[in-house]
Parts: sequence; C-alpha cells; structure tokens
Amino acid sequence: MIAKLRIPTFEDVRDAQARIAGNAHRTPVLTSRTANAMVDGELFFKAENLQRAGAFKFRGAYNAVSALDADARRKGVVAFSSGNHAQALAYAATLLGAPSVIVMPKDAPEIKVAATRGYGAEVVFFDRYSDDREAIARAISEERGMAMIPPFDHPDIIAGQGTAALELIEEVGELDMLITPLGGGGLLAGCALSAKALNPDCRVIGVEPEAGNDGQQSLQKGEVVRIAPPKSIADGALTTFVGYHNFPILQSKVDGIVTVSDGQLVSTMRFFAERMKIIVEPTGCLGASAALNNVVDCAGKRVGIVLSGGNVDLKALSGFFAGA
Ligand SMILES: *Cc1c(COP(=O)(O)O)cnc(C)c1O
Repeated sequence: MIAKLRIPTFEDVRDAQARIAGNAHRTPVLTSRTANAMVDGELFFKAENLQRAGAFKFRGAYNAVSALDADARRKGVVAFSSGNHAQALAYAATLLGAPSVIVMPKDAPEIKVAATRGYGAEVVFFDRYSDDREAIARAISEERGMAMIPPFDHPDIIAGQGTAALELIEEVGELDMLITPLGGGGLLAGCALSAKALNPDCRVIGVEPEAGNDGQQSLQKGEVVRIAPPKSIADGALTTFVGYHNFPILQSKVDGIVTVSDGQLVSTMRFFAERMKIIVEPTGCLGASAALNNVVDCAGKRVGIVLSGGNVDLKALSGFFAGA
C-alpha cells in the first residue's frame, strides 16, 4: 500500500532538536510529592500542556515544515484535522512563513475554527456525513502544490515528537521507565527512539483509552490492526490504527501497551487541577493515569511521564468533574 517507508532514527530526533531549538518551548519538568507517595516511586512529568499551541504536536509540526525545501515551503502545507495537529501545523507554518490550509468538519466547534484561523491558516470545510476529507485535502495538495502533513504517520513528525523525551532525559537523567499516551503513535515512537538511544534499559510504555486499544492489539498480533472508531473522552487518541512508519518502531522499542478507562482519566485530570494547579486534557492524562492508578507499577522506580496536551474547554472540563 505504501511503496517505501523512511523510518526515522534517533539521529533524526537530534536533527529535529536542532531545528526546533528556540522555536518550541523547552517545557518544564514537574514533580509532586503527593504523586510520588501515591505510587511509592519518583515521577517526572514533562509538561507539554504548556507547549506552544497547547500540545506536543507543535514539535513535530515545526520540524516537518522546517524540513521542507524553500520552494515547498513557499507553496505551503495542508492537513485534515480538527485537533491539536491542525493548530500546531497552522502555527508552525505561519512562524516559518509558509501558507497553510486546514480541512475541518463544517460542524467543528467555532472556538477551534477561530483558533486555527488565528494561527494563520485558511480553513476549508467538509461535511462529515457526505465528504471524504482526505480526498479534499489531497485535491488541495495537488492543485496548489502544497505538502500534505499527516498528524502521526510521517518520519519528520515522529522525529519532532521524540524531542519531548530527549529533553526530559537530558534534564532529569536516567529513567527506569517512560510512559506516554498513544494515539497514532507519533509521540510514542519518537519518544521510544530517544529513550532507547540515551538510556537502553529504560522500559517504554504506551497508554491507550480502554475503548480503543488498537495499538495493544497490533503489538500482540504483529501487524497493524484496524478497529471501529472508539468512544472515549480521550479525543486526541481516537485513532483507529497506528501509523505504518510508527509501527516498526513500536515493535522494536516499546515494552508494553496498557489501557485506562475514562473514569480513571477524569480522576487524573482532577488530581492535576487540584493538587498541581495545571490543566491537562483527557488525552494528555493517559500516561499519568496509568501510573497514578497503578495500572503500571512505578514502585521504587524513576519514571518519566509525558503530559501531552492541555487543550480542553472549561465547559467540557467542568462537565467531566460534575459527572464524577
Ligand atoms: C495527538 C495527541 C496524542 C496522541 O499522539 P499520537 O502521536 O497520535 O500517538 C496524545 N495526546 C494529545 C494531547 C494529542 O494531541
């Protein structure tokens, strides 16, 4: 189906680190004695909820746009997404002087449309019941010569996301374990490249929503497994299959994939808001939730956890808390 895959390596993560330096935030690493006591270990939270545009996606997006040659950059980039990748790509393109088109469902929340336009993108709408968004994006890409930048299945995206773990390990030193959320596998594959290169004994664990464990099934089966669209509050991890560039890295460098429930995500969001005074979106809580609920045993270990994003509107957030 895909002719030739260029699978990124740790060298590509290093190159990404040089490209994003001074452009992406070097986000803080947060600790909490309460969290440590809950797991009887030492947790280091990489706060990508405080990244530009509110999620780690800015790392990959910026890396992918800056890897384009001058001519491709002048023509610009296109993506179909209504989530964090769309905003990150729009923002990165604008910072790098490239035009961008984001293809979004016509019923996307007004606040997301406004944010994407605010970052400088042209928004093209599709009807989620009758249109094929990928075909629309592809047509724009062909007509205008724009590069399609997908949210996870792309070597420059994977390499960019890997800088989150690279920075974390550079800052806190060797880890016994690294835990990240898992959707399509950009973040987990990139971070696994960094962890296994810098710290080969570090166990790398991905966390999916219970309702959508396609990554777990794929590793078990030894091939990419596709599932029906899952239902979970972790809206950044509702992918139905992991990427083809991502899967071989997950196979060779990831030690395990676990799942957490929506209820566990809500209690973790509450913990971050009440105890650590930070807002982490449901998807951003996947890794932390596996640790704090002892789905993954962190006792006696130094554990890095990527808090992948913080984009959740306050109305939705209070709804989650009211329901819990
Ligand atoms: C996209 C996203 C994820 C999942 O990342 P993948 O690279 O698709 O695995 C996790 N958390 C947040 C906040 C995201 O935006």
